[in-house]
Amino acid sequence: MPAKKVCIVGSGNWGSAIAKIVGHNAKGSNRFDPIVNMWVFEEMIDGKKLTEIINTEHENVKYLPGHKLPKNVVAVPEITEAVKGASILIFVIPHQFIGKLCDQMKPHITQGTIGISLIKGIDEGPKGLKLISDIIREKLEIEVSVLMGANIANEVADEKFCETTIGAKNEANGHIFKELLQTPNFRITVVQESDTVELCGALKNIVAVGAGFCDGLGFGDNTKAASCGVADLITTCYGGRNRKVAEAFAKTSKSIEELEAEMLNGQKLQGPQTSAEVFKILKKRDMVSKFPLFASVYQICFEGKAVKEFITCLQNHPEHM
Ligand code: NAD
Ligand code: 13P
Ligand code: CA
Repeated sequence: MPAKKVCIVGSGNWGSAIAKIVGHNAKGSNRFDPIVNMWVFEEMIDGKKLTEIINTEHENVKYLPGHKLPKNVVAVPEITEAVKGASILIFVIPHQFIGKLCDQMKPHITQGTIGISLIKGIDEGPKGLKLISDIIREKLEIEVSVLMGANIANEVADEKFCETTIGAKNEANGHIFKELLQTPNFRITVVQESDTVELCGALKNIVAVGAGFCDGLGFGDNTKAASCGVADLITTCYGGRNRKVAEAFAKTSKSIEELEAEMLNGQKLQGPQTSAEVFKILKKRDMVSKFPLFASVYQICFEGKAVKEFITCLQNHPEHM
């Protein structure tokens, strides 16, 4: 069988951390072509193109500074060029950009190509919630697995131990992705419940925003834990960007948008927007009162509800009645 060519679609904080792993693993296995393309949303950094910096210094100086990428990872600014000849696609961009990008990719997708989405987010569809992997499946007509876990990008890039889950409806695909992505410090479990894995990865970002509000308002660990679950939820509620920006939101009078721009240097939050998608669906289904945490995160982020009211919103949780 010819070696499979891999394209990483995205090169932000997580995309670059994953490129470190994929570049290394592709080089070390004859199942994969050693050259890995990485599509980069082009931007200028101090007068130089980011793709040029990555291809000469082998470092994404903006989104993952301080980490060298393997030299066989090649930054490509044109998506049509990046996906040429690829039979494995790794999707890792902020979820708001996925639809447009898939439309650009579609004419260049070859038969038998498989994908994996590392994107945490959801969209709204005609029948309610729409998974990001479904957008990719429908637009590109390929099989799509997902990978989600408690995986803060900088820690993964530092090779600090963590676990993650691949959800693959097609088990064989799951195992190909495991071979491509697993390392001694990035341990992968493959399960078939892909939709559940994806949904947990997306929804935890809303809870992380709530956790940030708790910190910003000066509540204690008990309060924060009241909104907490397991693994990715715990990680995101302590170490993630959603939490960090939400804390600043509760402490200042700045908007989420302003804080994202000020604090994240181009990285993108997924929690506030996911709360908006979920809120629309809850409203349509007349279920807002059943999900007070999701609803209040949305109202605080987008409807001017005072962040001071955050806990009040939770005091009448249907589970307490
Ligand atoms: P990021 O937050 O660093 O996002 C910035 C990226 O978006 C940059 O590559 C930027 O060039 C790109 N971008 C900006 N404008 C764009 C446009 N108009 N079109 C396309 N791309 C554009 O990205 P990330 O951290 O790699 O996150 C990608 C996904 O991975 C998200 O769904 C996130 O939830 C998920 N994730 C992130 C982490 C993490 O720790 N960073 C961990 C696990 C999962
Ligand atoms: P943040 O986007 O909040 O940093 O979370 C990253 C993540 O998904 C960790 O698993
Ligand atoms: Ca190889």
